[in-house]
Amino acid sequence: MADQALTCGVCGRTVVGDDVAGARLTWVRSVENGRAVWTCDTCSRTHLRSIEGKLDSAWW
Ligand SMILES: [Zn+2]
Repeated sequence: MADQALTCGVCGRTVVGDDVAGARLTWVRSVENGRAVWTCDTCSRTHLRSIEGKLDSAWW
């Protein structure tokens, strides 16, 4: 499928073809404003801390 592609919403990394199946398993899918937003495995690991940091600051 030529139109099968995932783009990371954080770093812009794009996977196509056979890599998409693997990326769907390891990337994090979230929904913003009704649109699916994918975060690649690297960014989800990197941003996990900052996401938790934002939650923490929101709590206080
Ligand atoms: Zn990324």
